[in-house]
Amino acid sequence: MKAKTEARLELTEAQMREYGYKVVDALVAHHAGQEQKKPVAVASRAEMDELLTENAPEEATSFETVMQGVMEKVIPHINLLSHPKFFSFVPGPSNFVSVLGDTLATGFNVFSGGWAASPAAAELEIITINWLLNLYGFPKKRGGGIFTSGGSMANLTALVTARNVKCGDDFSKAVIYLSDQAHSSNVKAIRVMGFTKEQIRIIPTDMEFKFAINKLKNAINKDRLEGWKPFCLLASAGTTNTGTVDQLSELSEIAKAEDLWFHIDGAYGGAAILAKDGKQLLKGVEKADSLTVDPHKWFYQPYEMGCLLVRNHKWLSGTFTEKPEYLKDVEGNSSEINFYDHGIQLTRRFRALKFYMSVKTFGLNAFREAIDYNFKLCDATEELLRKSKKWEVVSPSTLAIINFRYNPIDKKYSEAELDKLNSKISEAVVQSREAMLVTTILNGQIVLRMCLINPRTTFDHVKETIELCEAVAEEI
Ligand SMILES: *Cc1c(COP(=O)(O)O)cnc(C)c1O
Repeated sequence: MKAKTEARLELTEAQMREYGYKVVDALVAHHAGQEQKKPVAVASRAEMDELLTENAPEEATSFETVMQGVMEKVIPHINLLSHPKFFSFVPGPSNFVSVLGDTLATGFNVFSGGWAASPAAAELEIITINWLLNLYGFPKKRGGGIFTSGGSMANLTALVTARNVKCGDDFSKAVIYLSDQAHSSNVKAIRVMGFTKEQIRIIPTDMEFKFAINKLKNAINKDRLEGWKPFCLLASAGTTNTGTVDQLSELSEIAKAEDLWFHIDGAYGGAAILAKDGKQLLKGVEKADSLTVDPHKWFYQPYEMGCLLVRNHKWLSGTFTEKPEYLKDVEGNSSEINFYDHGIQLTRRFRALKFYMSVKTFGLNAFREAIDYNFKLCDATEELLRKSKKWEVVSPSTLAIINFRYNPIDKKYSEAELDKLNSKISEAVVQSREAMLVTTILNGQIVLRMCLINPRTTFDHVKETIELCEAVAEEI
């Protein structure tokens, strides 16, 4: 028996080549000409419905027509997170070698679940995880980790592991501590895991947006007196708002003394370990029980790629191993890792490949220099703002993030007026689509925030954007 030609979902070799080259050409044109595009897409649901709504078509359409439709109607209405003037949230600078790596992984449809399915894929994941373990000073032999879809899944995987190791099945009295600057994905993970709000302690931060240590200690003591079971302390190595690194060494001491799991969320700042003074900046990171890093941010990988590292790989296998009958024949020997036993997903894409290929092609040194450059660019931006009489630096250049607001010294605006003015500046810049620059809130003030992790962003890109802000501020 053989399926009808069209039911085989096949193209001819000539078609595969022709269409494949069209896709490559479109990507190369985008990467080479991205700077000439506008980074921001602004569209309402109604506009997108109007442009794109259709019923699932029963009949075939030529690939050319489908691709043309995508290039004309879909791609132009998507923000460009790799654009040099995309300054908000956490940009995704990406790199073309990894785009090719991801293409290979998809094209060969590599199943990266178990050893037996793809021995070399599992091996490359082991090798690249070892590169990372080494960078962070985690134990070589005992350490382990896994690539995930992103930082959110890495944090969830970490916290599930922490709960399993520290609490076993009864977590009714367990409490977890994190600061008010910790990333929202952590609270989301804790809620997904079934903890109640009463089991989450959000500790205030100090003037520098770091954990208020005394308040943390008080909270732990109070909880013990009340019969709660503190089990996990979550620190940030690079908060998303300000790039602030918590007092990792001090917090690790507290975790040790109190027998708490010490998780560090380095999804934003972890990559800084590659910078010249990275070891200093992230001092204490090696003391974590588990560490989240997010290669699709500052390791310049395309989406999706997160990573969890742990001090002891057995914690992962001890938490995530289930042994269904249909996987019995593919378990492999004990040195052969089945990544489906180290995390939540069974079927997983081959994420290690893009990381491996890009690090090998460019060399780790190129990544180090890119990150060093990001630091320098952010420092230069701070200097530019400090020299100006129109701007106030609210949180200084830290791990390539700076927060500032328009606050001319010759005008005496009230706090409410400043909030309004800076919101309006952001709105006008975003509406112009020339740059992505949105606000955040620090100490109750609305401020502009720049995250400068794109190595293709120049000082001119920054200056043009600040000048644009000044021009729209004059108009307001
Ligand atoms: C981005 C970020 C996350 C979430 O990672 P995703 O890859 O977006 O899921 C978690 N923590 C911090 C500190 C982040 O900056």
